Amino acid sequence: THFGYQTVPESEKAGRVAQVFHSVAKNYDLMNDVMSGGLHRVWKHFTVHTARVPVGGKVLDIAGGTGDLSRGWAKRVGKSGEVWLTDINSSMLTVGRDRLLDEGLILPVAVCDAEQLPFPDNYFDLVSVSFGLRNMTHKDVALAEMYRVLKPGGTLLVLEFSKVYAPLEGVYDWYSFKLLPAMGKWIAKDEASYQYLAESIRMHPDQETLKQMMLEAGFDQVDYHNLTAGVVALHKGVKF
Ligand code: SAM
Repeated sequence: THFGYQTVPESEKAGRVAQVFHSVAKNYDLMNDVMSGGLHRVWKHFTVHTARVPVGGKVLDIAGGTGDLSRGWAKRVGKSGEVWLTDINSSMLTVGRDRLLDEGLILPVAVCDAEQLPFPDNYFDLVSVSFGLRNMTHKDVALAEMYRVLKPGGTLLVLEFSKVYAPLEGVYDWYSFKLLPAMGKWIAKDEASYQYLAESIRMHPDQETLKQMMLEAGFDQVDYHNLTAGVVALHKGVKF
């Protein structure tokens, strides 16, 4: 595109991602609402309410950040269930844990890297990762870990930015490379982090590529559902 990418070398990616999320943690929820016009709530609601997850089930929310999906899962599985809110970033988790506590929800919270999950094999009924996979350096390793910790019959859900329908590309580019960093600068006083956000979205594999990656990680019945004209896609895969 004519906007150009400032690509981050792989060796620097994890450090850059850590810096971005330590810096945005406090404003993260506000910025999500502002930048998506509240749509992220709709995408997450769709994810939580179309999922098949048993009451009493065990759920792992990876890259869970401030805990939007975890809250939804906790309601779905009920008091007999087990929902882990995890993220590699302690600042994001602190905001999330405090917010859930204020709402009266106590969940186990753990700092962990998706590429090296501290959970046994075949443990969870459902694993979710929303707006997290694109930040991971080795997505194949992370997907393999997600596969490992799922029970046979368990489901992986990946909610992530994806490739927008072609007629909307121009306006979407303008939005994400011009307006978004400007809003980041104005509201969060942090233009660089929101510039990274736009770039990381463009670099992320599109719908079909991610589907292929999930198949390669061993998942079956892999499919996806586009939301908001492909701005976001929800991928689903089952471990047999
Ligand atoms: N899931 C939340 C949501 O949908 O609002 C937060 C998404 S936030 C955009 C992305 C999160 O991915 C950040 O909190 C970041 O710390 C986390 N993350 C990045 N790399 C990670 C990794 N390797 N393992 C676990 N979490 C990671």
